[in-house]
Amino acid sequence: MNNFSYVNATSLKEATAALGSSWSDAVVLAGGTDLLGLMKDYVMSPARVVNIKSIKELGGISKSGSGLRIGATVTFDELASNPMVRQMFPSITQAVHGVTSPQVRNMGTVGGDLCQRPRCWYFRLGHGVLAMQNGKSLVPDGENKYHAIFSNGNAHFVSASSLGPALVALGAKIKLVSASGSREVDAAKFFVAPQSNEAREIALLPNEILTEITIPAAGKNATYEVRQKDALDWPLATATVSLTMKGNTVSAANIVLGHVGPTPFHAVAAAKALIGKIITAETAMAAGTAAVQGAKPLSQNAYKIQLARVAVKRALLEAAGIKA
Ligand SMILES: Cc1cc2nc3c(=O)[nH]c(=O)nc-3n(C[C@H](O)[C@H](O)[C@H](O)COP(=O)(O)OP(=O)(O)OC[C@H]3O[C@@H](n4cnc5c(N)ncnc54)[C@H](O)[C@@H]3O)c2cc1C
Repeated sequence: MNNFSYVNATSLKEATAALGSSWSDAVVLAGGTDLLGLMKDYVMSPARVVNIKSIKELGGISKSGSGLRIGATVTFDELASNPMVRQMFPSITQAVHGVTSPQVRNMGTVGGDLCQRPRCWYFRLGHGVLAMQNGKSLVPDGENKYHAIFSNGNAHFVSASSLGPALVALGAKIKLVSASGSREVDAAKFFVAPQSNEAREIALLPNEILTEITIPAAGKNATYEVRQKDALDWPLATATVSLTMKGNTVSAANIVLGHVGPTPFHAVAAAKALIGKIITAETAMAAGTAAVQGAKPLSQNAYKIQLARVAVKRALLEAAGIKA
């Protein structure tokens, strides 16, 4: 790890003043569960690290209109045990339950989860976010069993955040604050597929801090995730569904797949297929099949198509309260 200076900020003003115009100037430190590994492996080598965990206003979960506001430094454990989150957004609680490591749940934060870097092993070995070597991505002919089935150009990594797909499906907004002001970004636009090896995979700029998330009230919602085993690992494929019902038929739906593309994948065709329908095992499976239309698996990950399909079906049945 390179030497760095450390700022323990106690206010947002102090924290944003300590950031710079590039990631090599300064980066934010929250729980450190991702950042410290990246620094030890020289994947990120900032000159300054700005701890934001002592900033009170970045914590807490509270009502915001008919929805909720979740502070950036709220931990996974706080999120999982919050009764308002459980009642209004079971899809979030279910997504958090997938993060099984007690240490990560205790230290990892909401902001850190959304800003964590890809787990692509080529990225972690220093080949950049597009995993390039000699002008060519290493992924298509390499070890790609955990990579994207919905790639975007040379972006073959999968967005690592378990919270991301749920927040996109729920229509959440993410607040970003810098020394010169603030802006709000739709969760759907926060995740981006970078087209250069040095670009970031999120809309955050080096001089910004993610301060909070606001989630509007939602109808029935659920997340289903498939992982290799119940262990310390990221999911293989997930689906979050958010449904607006008219009686017992679906009048609007958001279906978002996770860990299948460089950004959470909005399965628009699947959502359309459900409008006016009652959720049954058959309609749920048909939506799952529609969700994976157009998937282009790499040499080792065609198995993810079936996982994503089933994740959609099970998330829909869960949201509708039907036993799979
Ligand atoms: C064994 C293991 C299993 C895991 N399994 C899962 C899983 O199943 N699903 C999943 O989603 N994640 C998983 N993770 C990743 C984990 O969720 C992240 O490491 C954690 O959420 C990062 O949060 P943190 O607070 O520790 O962030 P840090 O490590 O402090 O920061 C991570 C990155 O985010 C930036 N950052 C943090 N907070 C902010 C902010 N408020 N504003 C701007 N930038 C910020 C940092 O600069 C850094 O680049 C796993 C991690 C481990 C070690």
